[in-house]
Amino acid sequence: MAHGTIIVATDRNWLIGDRPDPTLSGTTPWQGQLPVDMRYFKAQTKNRPVIFARPTYESISEKHRPLIGRTNVIWTRQETYDVEGTTTVHSLDEAFDLFPNQELMICGGGHLYRVALEDPRVDIVLRTRVDGEFNGNVYFPALDEDEWRLIHSDFRQADGENLQNCAFETYVRKSAMLVDPRNARTPEYVAELLKIQRSRKCPFCPDGKTLTAGEDEIIAQNNFWYAIRTHTPVKGAEHHWVIISKTHLTSLQEVAGAYWSEMERLLRGLQRMHEVTGGALFVREGDTEVSGATVRHIHFNYVVPDSKANQAACAWFGQYREPNQSP
Ligand SMILES: [Zn+2]
Ligand SMILES: [Zn+2]
Repeated sequence: MAHGTIIVATDRNWLIGDRPDPTLSGTTPWQGQLPVDMRYFKAQTKNRPVIFARPTYESISEKHRPLIGRTNVIWTRQETYDVEGTTTVHSLDEAFDLFPNQELMICGGGHLYRVALEDPRVDIVLRTRVDGEFNGNVYFPALDEDEWRLIHSDFRQADGENLQNCAFETYVRKSAMLVDPRNARTPEYVAELLKIQRSRKCPFCPDGKTLTAGEDEIIAQNNFWYAIRTHTPVKGAEHHWVIISKTHLTSLQEVAGAYWSEMERLLRGLQRMHEVTGGALFVREGDTEVSGATVRHIHFNYVVPDSKANQAACAWFGQYREPNQSP
């Protein structure tokens, strides 16, 4: 299925630019002041189709367009519009049809952003939040907090080269959330989860397998569940198994009938195999803001504390924070 990601730079108030004359292209108030954002844009759109509304495309300096290493798509009402090195479309549907298995990067301007936000296939917004207030008249629609979650923010301090503070923010449409990097404990895992969200493939579903194929060995399975030895066990555990449903379930409400008895059967088998006399079972389910899950696909955890360790095994619930970090 085709997916779209919006990439946009705004100020604190979601201002994206100034376009006093609607028949001409607009300008960006922080033009030339944030090379770090230019590099970010390049890295995030690399090898992906990029789509611009015609006036936005024409506001790119001629020596930089079409953007290299990316298919340049221009969204316009003009039936006969044709620019060498670019593809013309007259609707977002047309663009999605052209790239059914790719991530379409939606690059503005204001009108295209508004159309894209109405499309459920557009489920990620990469916002560069320029930390200031500027003058202009073109805005990005402030994202509705009931529908969108800010799952990551990467702050960059102004320096000799970059005149503004900024943050690279990742918003995901709630219904499309597969992972929650806010619950990850290392920067490497955060980066891995962001990549997974961009791939739109659940890492616990059979066609995803990003987390389970390489690092985590499948130690038992039946028709409903599979169990792995996690590569990120809780501290002080002798065994930490994660038992994952083979279909994409996100909350306990979806776990019914045979799922329960088959879960129990799998767990008992593991206990026998490892001669376990007891342990602790917990499940992360539902809203990841509450459950502390990094993957929004139901998983049971079974922890057998290491009896030789001089401290208790320890799991956290709710959103992970560094110890002593204020909420
Ligand atoms: Zn990993
Ligand atoms: Zn899944």
